[in-house]
Amino acid sequence: AQLSNDDVRSLARDLGVKFIRLQFTDIFGVLKNVSITVEQLDKALDGELMFDGSSIEGFVRIEESDMYLRPDPNTFAVFPWRPRDGAVARLICDIYNPDGTPFAGDPRFVLRKAVAEAAEMGYTMNVGPEAEFFLFHVDNDGRPTTITQDRAGYFDLTPVDLGENARRDMVLTLDQMGFEIEASHHEVAPGQHEIDFKYSDALDIADKVVTFKFVVRTIAQRHGLHATFMPKPVFGIAGSGMHLNQSLMKNGENAFFDPGADMQLSDIAMYYIGGLMKHAKAVSAITNPTVNSYKRLVSGYEAPVYIAWSSRNRSPLIRVPAKRGMSTRIELRSPDPSCNPYLALAVSLKSGLDGIKNQIRPPRSCDRNIYEMTPEERDAEGIGNLPTSLEEAMRELNRDEVVKEALGSHVHRRFTEAKEIEWHRYSTQVHPWEIEEYLSKY
Ligand code: GLU
Ligand code: MG
Ligand code: MG
Repeated sequence: AQLSNDDVRSLARDLGVKFIRLQFTDIFGVLKNVSITVEQLDKALDGELMFDGSSIEGFVRIEESDMYLRPDPNTFAVFPWRPRDGAVARLICDIYNPDGTPFAGDPRFVLRKAVAEAAEMGYTMNVGPEAEFFLFHVDNDGRPTTITQDRAGYFDLTPVDLGENARRDMVLTLDQMGFEIEASHHEVAPGQHEIDFKYSDALDIADKVVTFKFVVRTIAQRHGLHATFMPKPVFGIAGSGMHLNQSLMKNGENAFFDPGADMQLSDIAMYYIGGLMKHAKAVSAITNPTVNSYKRLVSGYEAPVYIAWSSRNRSPLIRVPAKRGMSTRIELRSPDPSCNPYLALAVSLKSGLDGIKNQIRPPRSCDRNIYEMTPEERDAEGIGNLPTSLEEAMRELNRDEVVKEALGSHVHRRFTEAKEIEWHRYSTQVHPWEIEEYLSKY
């Protein structure tokens, strides 16, 4: 439903809202907020509230620090876990410069640009995300550990699993905040869970993903647990992905569906796959933005390693789920939940649109288990590798004009600066593995 500023005013009044959090994300997808009281709501809705952008990582320098928040009325939601009396609501905001132009460093603006370009071509992107996460215990000082709930359950006398209870509470809370939850289940690894919600347009989904992560963490904490969206928290077991199911709608129809075509996939669907595969390496820098992301992208854990597509199995980068008709979609399996969803969707969409504009055909689908193929067999099929480190992904990003353009020069520059520092800090560290491997050997 589309809400106006007036709707927000009356909702806030009817629901007894006292505090409003004005939310936005930095370029790393970290949720930020400025809290105001309801008395300031009019001023906020008029876009007159200012904040100091220089305090936000990746935003601006000191000398250009005045930023304005413009709340999007459609994002109004009350936090169900806060008291009814003096309720707390939030509004997600777009960020503007003092001269009234959109701020180029706002990830929401980056996604809006990609969505607008798709609209010019007649397309609306629909996305269904599948975010996985771990629930871990906290220690006596309240610090997160990597000890899983399931292991504790093993020693417990009662069959009650704290993790399952927390997950049920998360689903109920999300439901109250307007999410339509489609499935929630335990994932492969001990302590690992997944909650799926209904697909929607790209901007709505990016907003929902940041909200989702915030709610999951908050509710976990209330159950005495720590929820983490770190991609690979424990060596030797599955990591957490955030698969992005994507389709394009045109004139009310699913543009990926063609009942008469091979596999019932339209040319548009094939070009979209072709574009995603062409830009996959550079896209990884955004969909897999941490050092740790690349510890997930290894064989044996249902995470992709190779740039291929398939309708059958889970080892390739892109899977085409069996559903057709209005549900026809492709599943990009590389993203992990440490990514900024606004940027991840913007670069995915732009890559797919590039495929459509330039009619990029993907290589033929690969229905074998790619993990088991020899390097020669992969070469023969034209199957390349995803980057194996953040450094390699950044190098690929820096030579991909389409992905760079999707980010815009401001975000690209800030992102690159920050990731170079992150990589340097990591690569010059002496890690416990090295001590164990070399200290006594040499
Ligand atoms: N946890 C797997 C990953 O890292 C995905 C498992 C699944 O197919 O849901 O992507
Ligand atoms: Mg899963
Ligand atoms: Mg999936």
